Amino acid sequence: MKHQLTVYNSLTRKKELFVPLHSPFVGMYVCGPTVYGDPHLGHARSAITFDLVFRHLSHLGYKVRYVRNITDVGHLENDADEGEDKIAKKARLEQIEPMEVVQYYNNRYHHFMEKLLVLPPSIEPLASGHIIEQIQLIEKILEAGYAYESNGSVYFDIQKYNENYPYGKLSGRVLDDLLSFTRELDGQQEKRNNFDFALWKKASPEHLMHWPSKWSEGFPGWHLECSAMSSKYLGEEFDIHGGGMDLLFPHHECEIAQTVAASGKESVRYWLHNNMITVNGQKMGKSLGNFITLEEFFTGNHKSLEKAYSPMAIRFFILQAHYRSTLDFSNEALQASEKGLQRLFAAIKTLSQLKATGTSGEYVANLRVKCYEAINDDLNSPILIAHLFDGVRLINAVNDGHESISPEELENLQNLYKTFVGEVLGLQDETASETDVQLIDGLVNMVLEMRIEAKNRKDFAASDQIRNRLLQLGIEVKDRKDGFDWSKK
Ligand code: ZN
Repeated sequence: MKHQLTVYNSLTRKKELFVPLHSPFVGMYVCGPTVYGDPHLGHARSAITFDLVFRHLSHLGYKVRYVRNITDVGHLENDADEGEDKIAKKARLEQIEPMEVVQYYNNRYHHFMEKLLVLPPSIEPLASGHIIEQIQLIEKILEAGYAYESNGSVYFDIQKYNENYPYGKLSGRVLDDLLSFTRELDGQQEKRNNFDFALWKKASPEHLMHWPSKWSEGFPGWHLECSAMSSKYLGEEFDIHGGGMDLLFPHHECEIAQTVAASGKESVRYWLHNNMITVNGQKMGKSLGNFITLEEFFTGNHKSLEKAYSPMAIRFFILQAHYRSTLDFSNEALQASEKGLQRLFAAIKTLSQLKATGTSGEYVANLRVKCYEAINDDLNSPILIAHLFDGVRLINAVNDGHESISPEELENLQNLYKTFVGEVLGLQDETASETDVQLIDGLVNMVLEMRIEAKNRKDFAASDQIRNRLLQLGIEVKDRKDGFDWSKK
């Protein structure tokens, strides 16, 4: 089957046919998290969006090199050029090393992404591991004349750049407008223009993370790492650059300016941006108090949550909206997703036990075409899911004896759900079957009864061994006078 994938390019503001530079190889760079806090629903949306892109491209047969960075340096408060480093601030408050903050939240991020069945990227570079590459890039920009040094810091000269290249083409902002809205320089005399952004910042004495350079002991600006690391791992020109819509300006706009200033050409063919999550119609944010972390979702431990929600319920909820639409969180919406997902997996279970009964028409082949059309139309997961629910009606009708299906079509239908639900959407049934649960309970009780017998014949070594082995499997045993209790950790 020949597939024609179209994607919406934020740069041209239209859907375009996806043609990789060096098919079947695809290079994709996505801006990952700044690791100074627990991942929340916004992180999940971005990760799941580009996981869908990654999974679908792989499914179509492309060999994807997926680079998703970890920002561990240079991201200052309010995304600005002044203020404290977000990670260093956390380290100061908790009296630990900045790298301890990075490691801790990086581990947390991976833990939650794994729960959401987000596949790991091919390369996950850290900004702090690429200081040399960033310094080299600054040198190139300086040589090309689009940056200037000022008091140990280096700034990108936007006005100079704009004389030769249009600054603001991604965000649609015009420099003149930006300038007219800009307040007067207040004490930031280092910059020629308030809109210039830092490529290198001289570290103040209290700044914790700094490296030597010819300009000063300092640290790279936040936008720089993505230009340096994307070109290092994907080359001067590559296919897809993704991230959240909130990164479009200034982060991605500045990335384009840096890359063009250094090399004279743009590197990205398709810019993809996922939209934001709102909570009851309001933007989600720490200051608004409506900020819910993934741990809080999974435990239900937050005042806005009526209950705990499973990772797959969250994943399905996110995939039920198109990635370019805003997604409004509410308990009702999430519970509706949860029910929908249960219905989908119940049908898949029925499908696995369905018996072929005679003949059937073209239904499955048509459904397959519709599913591909949906996902190939700018990754339209909600339409794909709607088609999968159409198929659920057929599954139930065959199961009830109202419809028939040929053996061949039954196999095709089973494969279709495997492909789209498991492989492309990355959804898995979380509920162990009731027979599995009964079996596990029975086995644990049996082993613990054998342990009591061992104790009765004073074989304490065997008794301890059984307890320790169960503990390794996550089962805690508490002895009682008349027997035992056990629970899963
Ligand atoms: Zn970035």
